[in-house]
Amino acid sequence: MSLPQTPSSGFSLDSRSIAYFSMEIALSPSLPTYSGGLGMLAGDTLRSAADTAAPMLAISLVHRRGYFRQHLDAVGQQTETDVPWSPEATLPSVSHLFSIQMQNREVLLRAWRFDVVGVTGHIVPVFLLDADVEGNDTWDRHLTDHLYGGDAYYRLCQETILGLGGIALLQSLGAKPEVFHMNEGHAALLTIGLLEAHLNGAPLLNATESDIEAVRRQCVFTTHTPVPAGHDQFGLDQMYQILGHDRAAAIDRTGCLHNGLMNMTYIALRFSRFVNGVAMQHGIVSQQMFPTYPVHAITNGVHAGTWLSTAFQNLFDTQSPAAEIPGWRTDNQYLRAAYGIDPATISATHREGKTRLLAAVATRTGQHFDPNVLTLGFARRVATYKRANLLFTDPARLVAIAEKISGLQILFAGKAHPADTAGKGLIRDVFAEAAHLNSSALKIVYLENYDWALGALLTQGVDVWVNTPRRPYEASGTSGMKAALNGVPSLSILDGWWIEGCAENTTGWAIEDGETEEVEADSLYSKLENSIAPMYANPAAWATMQRHCIALNGTFFNTHRMLGQYFTNSYFPKPVTQDAAPSPSSLSQTAEVVLA
Ligand SMILES: *Cc1c(COP(=O)(O)O)cnc(C)c1O
Repeated sequence: MSLPQTPSSGFSLDSRSIAYFSMEIALSPSLPTYSGGLGMLAGDTLRSAADTAAPMLAISLVHRRGYFRQHLDAVGQQTETDVPWSPEATLPSVSHLFSIQMQNREVLLRAWRFDVVGVTGHIVPVFLLDADVEGNDTWDRHLTDHLYGGDAYYRLCQETILGLGGIALLQSLGAKPEVFHMNEGHAALLTIGLLEAHLNGAPLLNATESDIEAVRRQCVFTTHTPVPAGHDQFGLDQMYQILGHDRAAAIDRTGCLHNGLMNMTYIALRFSRFVNGVAMQHGIVSQQMFPTYPVHAITNGVHAGTWLSTAFQNLFDTQSPAAEIPGWRTDNQYLRAAYGIDPATISATHREGKTRLLAAVATRTGQHFDPNVLTLGFARRVATYKRANLLFTDPARLVAIAEKISGLQILFAGKAHPADTAGKGLIRDVFAEAAHLNSSALKIVYLENYDWALGALLTQGVDVWVNTPRRPYEASGTSGMKAALNGVPSLSILDGWWIEGCAENTTGWAIEDGETEEVEADSLYSKLENSIAPMYANPAAWATMQRHCIALNGTFFNTHRMLGQYFTNSYFPKPVTQDAAPSPSSLSQTAEVVLA
């Protein structure tokens, strides 16, 4: 006899063997719990876990006031407003309170549960930690308000709540994961929580190498940035103030300090049995940054069911043999079926996305773009190394190309972190160029408030996705993968994922490396003029390229494939045994059989 299941009893925590910790997770377009690529990746990972029935749960913070909404005035000056939301109104809570000791006092915590539900109904529960609890110090009640807000002290308090609070929650729930995955160094203090649990109340200063090994066996770490400033570090006085003497002294004594600072990446490295970067090249760059730790690579992906336009989803559904759940939704390799679809149909399906995007541009800005004109998209967090203005290195040449190829349209979007003055300056620069260059041949628009919804519109609707980072600072990048899934080629610097995804004139184009920005801009302009525009003018050739983007890159750069690699290489690696390797004699027998 089987009992009827209610949604809330549809999972048991006992079976969740992987706990995924991330400071930000994009859970829904309407929840402001993410800032950009890291949170998107976390959300896409969990959506793939749910679709493929992976035994995971996740921990993050509630971020009651969210990441900011961006406002841009007429000259591109950015201002920010909070995005408050109320978990009380939307989510079930875990019924009990629990607490951690920090800043020499007890901080009470609770958690809200967001269920990520997969296509077969499998649930990946996400617990959002919340310090806004009656009884807490007033200042502490705001610690889970602002994602990446406040000063260093506030940030370390948040990271303490994520790491130690997350472990305290799992203990209070009786969950016993086998693997703890730190998605970026923010979560590194979970290792100290595990060490405390392992020592059962004994002082951490007594920890032996074998105690540390017991924690290491359970932990894996993904590092996400080759930019040194992207690795969080804190002063020792703050470390002692917030964590207390025993934990702080243990972090020092176990060799986790770096350049005399508490460095979250080094804590994570010290306590992990498997470490990886997020694209093949990023693995190599990270290995050079951390030469004493072996660093592997697992290339990022995106969740196809989230980023494919509805029109493409419907098209691929019709390609599946009759089944309740079309194959590509649980196994993205079936997107290879694109090669069985007429390129003209792929092109027409992309055209629906372009029409929708241009309608949204008109509504948002009053600017009317022509659907028959080549349209480039550039949208990403505005950081100086991403060089949003490389396209404007030689404005006169850009205008000349636009006139020669019968028109060019460019859409920009992206937020600068509120404290990033240089990034904010870049947005104003793009506005100034746009105002100066806009003509009948060249149209440039900067769209406000780049977020999930706008990211989907853009990657489903432009003709070419442009990315111009300074090498080797782009760890992976994922927006170009969303574009590829939707039949959109990239024009990009050979950095991050594009080193693996670029097949010249087939899935897009490489901007060639140069010593100076002028040289790189020259390559960008000549690809635009001599390769991209002529192909765009030939609809059959363009449609064939769009199909290659899906069949070659969409089938690989997705989180279903990525999560599978985490299971095989990071979470549950198979020991390499002598028995598993074919013996020379069995090889020669095989050879004989073949020869016979
Ligand atoms: C996909 C996405 C990102 C990350 O893309 P990158 O290529 O790493 O810039 C950032 N923000 C939003 C809103 C996204 O959808």
